[in-house]
Amino acid sequence: MIQWYPGHMAKTKKIIAENLKHIDIALHIIDARIPKSSYNPLLERILGSKPQIIVFNKADLADSSANKKWIMYYNDKGINIVETNAKNRQGIDDIFKTARDLMRNRREKLMRVGYVNVPIRLMILGIPNVGKSTLINAMVGSTKAKVGNKPGITKGKQWIRIGDEFEYMDTPGILWPKFEDEMTGYMLALVGSINDDLLDFEELSLKFIERIVQRYPEVLLEKYKLDRLSDDNYTNLVNIGKKRGCLIKGGEVDTLKAAKIVIDDFRSGRLGNITLELPEDIGHE
Ligand code: GDP
Repeated sequence: MIQWYPGHMAKTKKIIAENLKHIDIALHIIDARIPKSSYNPLLERILGSKPQIIVFNKADLADSSANKKWIMYYNDKGINIVETNAKNRQGIDDIFKTARDLMRNRREKLMRVGYVNVPIRLMILGIPNVGKSTLINAMVGSTKAKVGNKPGITKGKQWIRIGDEFEYMDTPGILWPKFEDEMTGYMLALVGSINDDLLDFEELSLKFIERIVQRYPEVLLEKYKLDRLSDDNYTNLVNIGKKRGCLIKGGEVDTLKAAKIVIDDFRSGRLGNITLELPEDIGHE
């Protein structure tokens, strides 16, 4: 996975800005489990007046009542948002419909002056691991057909045709994750959007447990068959380790092993549907 440095971010920003000139709509993918931290607000500035659709992906792993809140939050702001599960191709048709609606006026104008079948050009943007490649595959399905380089397109850019109406740029825009504050870093690490090598799993699991104790306490009690939750999250981690048989010599609990189990259970969805950030968290941390 990519390491982000200021120079790298500046270069990426420039490339994305250049690519955006050639498209009609940006599909900005975010992770439904951490909609706040996986959303890069800097993109707004790069986008300017370019229409965007927020693709609320991995909705199948998130909590459906929280999904509803987020959809409402963006709808209220007048921002287009579509809930998807790219892995199962759910919500893909809604993306096409929203894109069509956004471009309707412009296409009608073009038709009046004789341009028919002008494709709607899309680009997919998002931080690592939100599901960009999976979404591309889901959108293209079996209709994949390369249309090759076209004049005026950044050198080397390929356009892929999706049905009769759409084309997308065959290079997903990889956005850098925002490193706004410590909590954002933890959230991004939990969903695997920043490099694992940099992580202190034990600390990460404690942050996770803290949030789960606040929002979904029953999940820990049930999944790890704990008798009760402690106010001290390290004790909770130790108790999870005991239940899972994470022991080292002398009967001590291997908390690193326990931490990895908890994080892996979350990432894989084995802890059930969990959303770590709600709209009300915006501006409250
Ligand atoms: P990218 O780095 O943004 O291109 O992300 P990928 O497309 O490689 O997806 C990262 C991981 O998330 C893969 O293991 C995908 O199978 C998984 N994934 C992508 N979209 C979804 C989704 O909507 N639901 C679930 N459950 N998993 C998904």
